[in-house]
Amino acid sequence: MPMHIDLTGRVALVTGASRGIGRAIATGLARAGATVCLNYRRQHERAKETLQAIEAAGAHAFVHQADVSDRGQAEALVGAVVERMGRLDILVNNAGITREGLFVEMPDDAWTSVLETNLDGVYYCARPSARHMLRQGWGRIINLSSVLTSRAGRGQVTYAASKGGVNALTVALANELGPRGVTVNAIAPGLIETDMSRPFIGMAASKIREWIPMRRVGRPDEVAALAVFLASEEASYITGQIIAVDGGIG
Ligand code: NAD
Repeated sequence: MPMHIDLTGRVALVTGASRGIGRAIATGLARAGATVCLNYRRQHERAKETLQAIEAAGAHAFVHQADVSDRGQAEALVGAVVERMGRLDILVNNAGITREGLFVEMPDDAWTSVLETNLDGVYYCARPSARHMLRQGWGRIINLSSVLTSRAGRGQVTYAASKGGVNALTVALANELGPRGVTVNAIAPGLIETDMSRPFIGMAASKIREWIPMRRVGRPDEVAALAVFLASEEASYITGQIIAVDGGIG
């Protein structure tokens, strides 16, 4: 039976949506009918480009600037969506950073900035969102994790620790919110071509084909397809899962 995902009437918030995977997820949700808040931190022009592309496709979105690693800004972001739209159904915690470096040489601020963005940011956005979703009796929280939680290489301790925290938070929060109709899942991408991964892809290009069973890097829209499904009514019995989109690496 062909499945047509319809998110009409749903309101979504995607953090870090000006480019990369976040942009693809926001576009996918909007094309499926949701009204999407495109959060961005600094790249106003790229956020506007994303907005224009969504609107050109006849879908609905709006932009909102906020740094999700700042508790006040993250809470204000969620509050602004609820105030404007009257509800919040889908939260995609996509914003993330990486700062690679050998553990023993790494400056303290590499640890704190990665943890503050990748893990605290999820907490700051998810808590006020979950309160609204519990009141509504319906919600979807989708966190961006990584295959690197179990397969991290040299220089990736901080990033792996942050995403491991995201996985644990996902499972624990799913247990807490499941009885009230809110699902919580994580997507663990492998190597997806974006601004974040491009330097690594450049360095390791020759090894990548043999390393990945699919023999290629992934595209942001291939991650977005899963996010759109997890956001839908059709995914109503899936919660507490860490689902890889990695061409078979895991
Ligand atoms: P990207 O660097 O292209 O995009 C990340 C976005 O997050 C950017 O728009 C950035 O401005 C935004 N952001 C960063 N810090 C923020 C903050 N404090 N507040 C608001 N926005 C902030 O990276 P991407 O590859 O699109 O990554 C998206 C997510 O997927 C990240 O969580 C990343 O860790 C994860 N991921 C990516 C890959 C990959 O191969 N690209 C693999 C595994 C996981």
